[in-house]
Amino acid sequence: MLRPYGLLPMTPKLLVLSAPSGAGKSTICNMLLERNPDFRLSISATTRAPRGSERNAVEYFFLPEEEFFAKVENNEFIEYAEVHGHYYGTLKASVEALLRQGFTVLFDIDVIGALNIKKQYPEAILIFIRPPSQEELIRRLKNRKTESEAQIQKRLERLPMEYEKADYFDYQVVNDDLLSTVVFIEQLIRKR
Ligand code: 5GP
Repeated sequence: MLRPYGLLPMTPKLLVLSAPSGAGKSTICNMLLERNPDFRLSISATTRAPRGSERNAVEYFFLPEEEFFAKVENNEFIEYAEVHGHYYGTLKASVEALLRQGFTVLFDIDVIGALNIKKQYPEAILIFIRPPSQEELIRRLKNRKTESEAQIQKRLERLPMEYEKADYFDYQVVNDDLLSTVVFIEQLIRKR
């Protein structure tokens, strides 16, 4: 695949992506990581169980609640939040290590976590991914068949809060075409 910007030396950056579930955020993150060898994903800790082919320390650090809250007590998280009934947190040590190595750190986290990252790293770029429409979002959620009807309802109930917080993000991008969205995000970060 063509890498439009090659391996330009650049200062480390923090790129935070949030979106309602079904907006295509995971696919966008994967494409950004594939196309930009200087990007690394911030691997969060979570109390939820692995899904499908997910592996520990790749998608997440899967922790029992007890261990998760021991880390909260030890102040090991930059931020943590409850999302859809499970806890998720960004580990300070792993983010700092990636920044020290000069990587651009990509965060795939919820809107509350994103705004908390910004408080501690004001230089972080916050991008909210919007689905083309509510109908399209529902269609995508149903199509992926990973959530029950009740879980889909729970995700939809979170939408008003997510759109409200999105107003405080640096950018909002409508994901109606995957590649255009990815290129747009790359241009935003390369411009800084
Ligand atoms: P999933 O369980 O589908 O992987 O993720 C559920 C939600 O939790 C997604 O919106 C994801 O972005 C968010 N999330 C993942 N890691 C973190 C984290 O470290 N902190 C926060 N606040 N949210 C996270």
